[in-house]
Amino acid sequence: MPSVLAYHRPQSLEDAWALLSNPEHALLAGGTLIVPAVRRNPDAGATFIDLQALGLDTLGVDGDRLNLGAMARLGDLMVDARVPALLADLCRRELPSALRNAATIGGTVGAAGSVTAADSVLLAGLLVHDAAVGLHGAADRSLADYLDSRPVGIVTVVSMETEGAGTLAVTGRTPADVPIVAAVGRRTPSGIRLALTGVAATPVLVDPTDPTAGLEPPSDFRGSSDYRLHLASTLAARVVQELS
Ligand SMILES: Cc1cc2nc3c(=O)[nH]c(=O)nc-3n(C[C@H](O)[C@H](O)[C@H](O)COP(=O)(O)OP(=O)(O)OC[C@H]3O[C@@H](n4cnc5c(N)ncnc54)[C@H](O)[C@@H]3O)c2cc1C
Repeated sequence: MPSVLAYHRPQSLEDAWALLSNPEHALLAGGTLIVPAVRRNPDAGATFIDLQALGLDTLGVDGDRLNLGAMARLGDLMVDARVPALLADLCRRELPSALRNAATIGGTVGAAGSVTAADSVLLAGLLVHDAAVGLHGAADRSLADYLDSRPVGIVTVVSMETEGAGTLAVTGRTPADVPIVAAVGRRTPSGIRLALTGVAATPVLVDPTDPTAGLEPPSDFRGSSDYRLHLASTLAARVVQELS
């Protein structure tokens, strides 16, 4: 039996933040990552702070940026015309349908410390759309900074640029598998923004002219570090060529 010791559904961000001051308490969004984690370790027990009553599921346009409320579901973003086509496609690719109808954009960002984060094509897509993370309890910051620093705070909104064509190139064991390495790019007025998955603990923004500079990918059963570097270089070149 999984032991959920207590469940809270706060009605305000202040109440949620106060509950989070207890390090034993965990934020619950779509639950696709955190509920299985609790089930795997039933002896530890968990107390959830469910974010669903906070009205964080709205989308809004602010000038040339789109603001996604943290509780917006990937399944809804996938079919929303305001979401750039590349990101809608990445929402579809991120998870199978049953999971993406529950998983949220805030949970995807909040899961940055998990083992699956390295392979998140959606986080890579957000990076190339110059995503910024709005937080309650910590200073707002770029997504790249958030992935580096992983601050304690409640993600309230993820905002991003929407203009410019984008594309991706991937290699997986099969077309349906999570890519071993993926390159995601977007053309902007100031040049191409490029991000890679599968080469570090989280997706990373890289220099399109030298995409593997400084990378030391991990090795695992899906591919050695050298193989991943080779894929990164090849896939990045394909994306840059398509966007040039
Ligand atoms: C390639 C890939 C494959 C995956 N495959 C699977 C799979 O097959 N099965 C599966 O169960 N999962 C899978 N995941 C993991 C998980 O489904 C995703 O990361 C999902 O997007 C998490 O969203 P959620 O809303 O369900 O988050 P939750 O599970 O609710 O939360 C995830 C983490 O984020 C924190 N969090 C949630 N909301 C916030 C917020 N607003 N602010 C700050 N922190 C927050 C939580 O405390 C928790 O630590 C996969 C992920 C990737 C990248």
